[in-house]
Amino acid sequence: MTALLDTLRGIVGAANVLTEDGGNDLAAYLLDWRRRWRGRALAVVRPGSTAEVAALVRACAAAGTAIVPQGGNTGLVGGGVPDASGEQVLLSTQRLARVRAVDAANLAITAEAGCALQTVQQAAADAGLLFPLSLASEGSCTLGGNLATNAGGTQVLRFGNARELCLGLEVVTAEGEVWEGLTGLRKDNTGYDLRDLFIGSEGTLGIITAATMKLAPQPAATMTALAACESLAACVALLKLARARLGAGLTGFEVMGRFALDLVARHFPQLPRPLPAAPWTVLLEHSDTEGDAQARQRFETLLGAALEAGTVSDAVVAESLAQSQGLWHLRESIPLAQAEEGLNIKHDIALPVSAIPAFCESTDRLLLERFPGARLVNFGHLGDGNLHYNLQCPDGADGRRFVAEHEHEVNSLVFDALVPFGGSFSAEHGIGALKRDELAARKSPVALGLMKRVKAALDPHGIFNPGRVL
Ligand code: FAD
Ligand code: ZN
Repeated sequence: MTALLDTLRGIVGAANVLTEDGGNDLAAYLLDWRRRWRGRALAVVRPGSTAEVAALVRACAAAGTAIVPQGGNTGLVGGGVPDASGEQVLLSTQRLARVRAVDAANLAITAEAGCALQTVQQAAADAGLLFPLSLASEGSCTLGGNLATNAGGTQVLRFGNARELCLGLEVVTAEGEVWEGLTGLRKDNTGYDLRDLFIGSEGTLGIITAATMKLAPQPAATMTALAACESLAACVALLKLARARLGAGLTGFEVMGRFALDLVARHFPQLPRPLPAAPWTVLLEHSDTEGDAQARQRFETLLGAALEAGTVSDAVVAESLAQSQGLWHLRESIPLAQAEEGLNIKHDIALPVSAIPAFCESTDRLLLERFPGARLVNFGHLGDGNLHYNLQCPDGADGRRFVAEHEHEVNSLVFDALVPFGGSFSAEHGIGALKRDELAARKSPVALGLMKRVKAALDPHGIFNPGRVL
């Protein structure tokens, strides 16, 4: 192993091979964001170029050493931290952080995998354009991680997931070759779509080193509103109305259950909460090509109609950019407030939007009958049919113990309940370590067989992120 470490040092320089023995504090790399998975690593290596990544992969492959790619370490399914063996190499993309090019006329940006999502957004904004991927973790998550997990976020209903935004990739293969697929083409039917194989593969098929992504024109005005609804069915009715009235101008539609916002109030009391507590609060975002006045008028007409129809019971439109950011901050603080409250059981589920009210009604009831006093933290991207349908232990109970004792049963209950509604047990966070057994149990044998053949073809010796996904 010392021989391998020496080779790695020769490739990236000693300063970029970090080991616990070498006195480095590796906690930021080895413990995941949820503090659920703590791994150990032979070394954390930080390559500074695609060529270095390729050389590292060749060295590790020759030594039969597994590689765990990691970007911002904000993933929620334990896919980006090594196992406990201390034998895997963690490849951090932190130093692959250059924006290579912005092609404004082609509405495209090419950036390296380790760029923080916010850096890519800022580079687009500097060119007067919009990079429309947006997640609460955007300050730390990376473009490579976004693609490896096919991240979703808050603008999917208008612009799609990371996959829909991706035009081309540069990838280091398990042989240590570089696939140069950085094209800015919207149309390219030249054989199998290799790009789509790597997107969403969670580091198990190759290492994404750079990507070319779609940009969009910046809207002339963006406006945010909050609306209170008495039921999830009313939220769905509001979505339908907002789509009809705003068309492509509807760029955000997030739903927040009462308890989710109560947790924010408990842990971040300084955040203003402009509407009184309601069973459901919807955050709507409207982007307009004309300007502020028209955006406001459209929004007010929509909300007026919704109030009149009884679809919403109360509503407020942000008056300024600061207020608008405050509303988003409220929404984005839910996962953080939940983490403050303690360990919990998370579900990132997808359903046809039309099925969401009935699914929640029956599944809430089943959960509360089985686990009296447990608290449902339900929020998410209703516009995409994606809920973060989480369960927190009863007030005052020990979260860690609740999760240890009941997670399996809670998961089975929720995932079984999705089946008759045609839902998915992983919408945007992926499989990682957390849902690997669910994938094996719930995906059809045909689908699993195809996935295993893809893995065997692209990573025959299993050096990329072993034990994750499959
Ligand atoms: P990491 O956590 O470092 O890695 C994630 C996976 O990708 C791992 O399997 C890793 O091996 C692999 N990987 C990373 N980089 C590469 C690479 N260059 N090549 C190959 N494989 C790679 N996700 C959403 O989809 N929508 C949300 O709205 C959302 N909100 C979030 C809010 C908060 C507060 C937090 C903490 C997380 C949220 N997430 C969300 C989850 C997470 O931020 C995303 O999954 C993000 O895309 C992960 O990026 P990362 O760089 O942190 O990846
Ligand atoms: Zn989400």
